[in-house]
Amino acid sequence: MNKMFEEVVTFIRNYYNTPEGFIPLHEPRFTGNDKKYVMDAIDSTFVSSVGKYVDKFEEMIREYTDAKYAIATVNGTAALHMSLLLAGTKRDELVITQPLSFIATCNAISYIGAEPLFVDVDMDTLGLSAEKLGLFLKDKTEIKNGLCYHKQSGKRIAACVPMHTFGHPVAIDKIAELCTRYKIALVEDAAESIGSTYKGKHTGTFGLLGAFSFNGNKTITCGGGGVIVTNDEQLAKLAKHLTTQAKVPHKWEFVHDHIGYNYRLPNLNAALACAQIEKLEEFVLNKRELASQYQQLFSDKPEFHFYVEPKESRSNYWLNVVLLKNKTKRDEFLTYTNEHGVMTRPAWALMNKLEMFKQCICEDVSNAIFIEDRLVNLPSSVRINN
Ligand SMILES: *Cc1c(COP(=O)(O)O)cnc(C)c1O
Repeated sequence: MNKMFEEVVTFIRNYYNTPEGFIPLHEPRFTGNDKKYVMDAIDSTFVSSVGKYVDKFEEMIREYTDAKYAIATVNGTAALHMSLLLAGTKRDELVITQPLSFIATCNAISYIGAEPLFVDVDMDTLGLSAEKLGLFLKDKTEIKNGLCYHKQSGKRIAACVPMHTFGHPVAIDKIAELCTRYKIALVEDAAESIGSTYKGKHTGTFGLLGAFSFNGNKTITCGGGGVIVTNDEQLAKLAKHLTTQAKVPHKWEFVHDHIGYNYRLPNLNAALACAQIEKLEEFVLNKRELASQYQQLFSDKPEFHFYVEPKESRSNYWLNVVLLKNKTKRDEFLTYTNEHGVMTRPAWALMNKLEMFKQCICEDVSNAIFIEDRLVNLPSSVRINN
């Protein structure tokens, strides 16, 4: 077995042209106009809540994702929280999501006082299972006065938040169809999937609202940042208003008409975001090349199952994924790689097991449990200088 692990480590070291020293899981790359735009923002003195880069960033996101509206936010978690608020989620309501996700998804749901309800993921996409969602909705919910209720708890199901796990798109058209049929707002957690499309359409643009993240470990980064996309003009206006302290526009008066949020993206970060978006397509192609080399590497190693993009999708391959045969093998592989200076990591602990969420309604999540025991993320940074 160690020989197999050694081959993987050797491949990664060769690929990144790093014969010794530490290889991180995902490093940011600043190879374009990054410094230039950041310096320009500083020189302009507009480093904070307004400035031309915020507007430019929103325009670039609209253009890249083909969404009608884009609203910059301070991070992806804020984008998700705001999206759920705008989708009409209220205290004590339920939000369907997957147990295999980063904590931010459930945190955003909790900020509203709503509760996550867990439905399993699919083995082939690692994201919310349309099939299991359909069965759950059919058996355990009812529609009254145009709203969807969970029969057993009597609580309303306000929204559904699928996540495009590690950049691989879920079967979002089927999920969207179910949400429409059951009167549930679809909010996509597209934090990991900038650059990923499903049937030619960008992830995050299938539902009412979508949220992206530009945290330091994501495909492109502006230090910290996020964006909400939507095709709904009213929601877009409200998103801008509520994320900027709900100030009524006026030349000098300070009047606010809602409880607002300080969720705006500073112009300084937006400057970096603009430079990063210029490189996005190049980064995605670079990451796809790495994925195809990983696929090749693992093709003759039955101990590993390497994840390729789901059918009819283009993945950004944010973090490459393998499944090992069982938990023991996974731990051996994690230990070997990390001891040899190559950073790998397991899946997030499932959300339904965490102290804060273990009381929440949880459907059969056997796929998520299977994956949690076996999954390992491999180094996936964009390669430069080769
Ligand atoms: C990164 C991430 C977020 C939110 O990101 P921020 O760090 O707040 O920008 C949300 N959901 C998922 C699944 C993520 O991976």
